[in-house]
Amino acid sequence: MSASALAAPNYAERRAQLRRQVFGGKHPPDAVLINSPANLYYLTGFTGSFGALLMTPDTERFLTGGIYATQAQSEVLGIPIVLNPTLKEFNATLTEVVRELGARTLGVESGNSVAGVQALRKAARRAGVRVLPIGTPVEKLRRVKDEYEIARVRDAAALADATFQHIQRLFQPEVAEWDIAMEIDFYMRRQGAYPAFDTIAVSGERTALPHGKPTERRLQKGDFVTVDFGAKLNGYCSDLTRTVVIGKASAEQRRLYDAVLEALERCITAIKPGKPGKQIDAIARMVLEKHGLADYFGHGLGHSLGILVHDGSGLSFRDKTPLEAGMVLTVEPGVYVPGFGGVRIEQDVVVTETGCEVLTHAPVELMECEG
Ligand code: ZN
Ligand code: ZN
Repeated sequence: MSASALAAPNYAERRAQLRRQVFGGKHPPDAVLINSPANLYYLTGFTGSFGALLMTPDTERFLTGGIYATQAQSEVLGIPIVLNPTLKEFNATLTEVVRELGARTLGVESGNSVAGVQALRKAARRAGVRVLPIGTPVEKLRRVKDEYEIARVRDAAALADATFQHIQRLFQPEVAEWDIAMEIDFYMRRQGAYPAFDTIAVSGERTALPHGKPTERRLQKGDFVTVDFGAKLNGYCSDLTRTVVIGKASAEQRRLYDAVLEALERCITAIKPGKPGKQIDAIARMVLEKHGLADYFGHGLGHSLGILVHDGSGLSFRDKTPLEAGMVLTVEPGVYVPGFGGVRIEQDVVVTETGCEVLTHAPVELMECEG
């Protein structure tokens, strides 16, 4: 299904929500500046890498440079656009507009670099504007996905499933890790998507590297092979990991696999609104502990998924935020035994009112690939 099959998201409503959040509290700034590309995309539909949304309680402006002039006019609808003149410092234009809107204090998101904030402060001081931190209000809104966004992740997940299906013929001796990774990327690009992150394809002992880069190593009989990849399709990401065995699995391989699969299934069953993410992470650790493998699980259970592949708080041991219906998360337990190999299985889920729905459908049972 293409993005056009669903009505465009209601950007104006998202901005209205943000306004209520930032201007409704105690001591709000007069204006806020949103400049993270993911947040601009969420609030306006702008797909460029450089722009700024200025909002006061009752006005808004979208600023960008000449390189995005045409694009901003076609993508950013219903907001007056201000183009920074060539050769003029962007922050100077920005702070002038802040003053024109009658604002004396400007709230900035906490995702900005220290150098970026320093440069803005300097320009703001010249214009008599004070810069204040406002934390991450857009990220908070983005944690819970609306119907449009869930449909987008669903499409991206379906493409990841199709990609996994497509590369199965490469799970055979003599195929190099990087040929598998390249085929994954090529297939997703051919369907109009981008890799959501650098594709992982590792084999043999290298499967003990949770984030190993693909090499020229060729698959051999008896190898574990782990692929971890995601499609960014129409602005939203999926993230899928599967581990297979080339030929017949050994008893030890099957033991590791079954333990990870049990952890995965127990966690998916346990996901429910109201529970903090870390409570689900603890279940994975408990299951792996039972199998004597807890020490080999060296990362969080899962992350939030959306416009970015790490889209906010998720299911790690650090996540205290209670789950809410509409959150989209990965569930990805793994064990990594140095010198032997590792297993990770990753599913994408959306939290529902009563539990969760799994969005990725590639088989999770251990595949023994005979080539
Ligand atoms: Zn992944
Ligand atoms: Zn992931």
